Amino acid sequence: MTQWHDLRSLTLEELTRAVVRAGDKKYRAKQIYGWVHRKLVRTPGEMKNVPSRLKDDLLKDYPLHGVTELKVLTSSLDGTMKFLFRLHDGNVIESVLMRYKHGNSVCISSQAGCRMGCRFCASTLLGLARNLTPGEMLDQIYAIQHIIGERISNVVVMGTGEPFDNYDSLSRMIRILCDPEGLNIGHRSITVSTCGIVPMIRRFADEHPQITLAISLHASNDVTRKELMPVANRYDLDQLMEAAQYYVDRTRRRITFEYSLVKGVNDGRRQAEELSDLVRGLNCHINLIPVNPVEERDYSQAEPADVAAFKHILEERHIQVTVRREMGRDISAACGQLRKGYTERNGEK
Ligand code: SAH
Repeated sequence: MTQWHDLRSLTLEELTRAVVRAGDKKYRAKQIYGWVHRKLVRTPGEMKNVPSRLKDDLLKDYPLHGVTELKVLTSSLDGTMKFLFRLHDGNVIESVLMRYKHGNSVCISSQAGCRMGCRFCASTLLGLARNLTPGEMLDQIYAIQHIIGERISNVVVMGTGEPFDNYDSLSRMIRILCDPEGLNIGHRSITVSTCGIVPMIRRFADEHPQITLAISLHASNDVTRKELMPVANRYDLDQLMEAAQYYVDRTRRRITFEYSLVKGVNDGRRQAEELSDLVRGLNCHINLIPVNPVEERDYSQAEPADVAAFKHILEERHIQVTVRREMGRDISAACGQLRKGYTERNGEK
């Protein structure tokens, strides 16, 4: 038995055991798996060639819990779409579709809420409601592909939640997503972003070496990082950078550091120099993000001139750096704000 009791969270092997337990032939499992993970059915009724008796039996133990669309916002500038989804128990989550020349990329949530407490982030303001199941993570992608009628080619786990605080679900979600019997998304087309849970970075490098890893750094020294991110009290920068080096050595891949620029806190010349020293020699790329102001917090966005100066200092020191392009500026509620607004208006859940 697994800890997950929804049909979309089962691996093909588990589904096969469940089908055999229900007294049916093994090949039925492959049929059902194909309906769920490749043809992306929204309801059990759509699984046309599966006997009703078997469906009823399976769904009693493993319901087809998915996400239901509550609200969709579309940017008139670049086609970015934000989705507010409802889970079967009434919790709500957010996902984002970004349209690029090279394909459609979906940003998914890994938890309903978050308990990491980063000071500038709206997703953490209401705390953690619960972890998402692998099926609920997958279904954000499936629902969006179903709604837009186009293939999703890239997935980033950068929505609400800390993926390494829900490691087992994340890991299984990736396996099913890359399964040739499912959507068959390339490992290299998936990015996972963490606030820096050191032991999990090492485990992830060992278990998923082909997945791109992004670490939310946001500071060049421990004092500033602790001010912005409570997780820095658990793991200091020395430990974090050692884990980053481990990922690069183990996977032979470049690592990404996200650095949100907060006015007067981490956007100065000295910090840019310190950051260069911190990452020197590591195969990495720095993604600068002018922080999105969140009403409840008193941090403001770095000035454009300071962003440019910060970038310039890194470039002078031959550090690979980009400033993240802002997508969907006209619908740009910062991460987690859509969910927070809805949850508050409708009570907790
Ligand atoms: N928990 C994971 C993934 C979710 S957050 C992590 O921390 O990486 C995705 C990214 O958005 C992180 O880099 C996070 O620090 C950043 N972020 C959150 N709120 C933000 C804001 N208001 N402005 C800019 N970036 C923000």
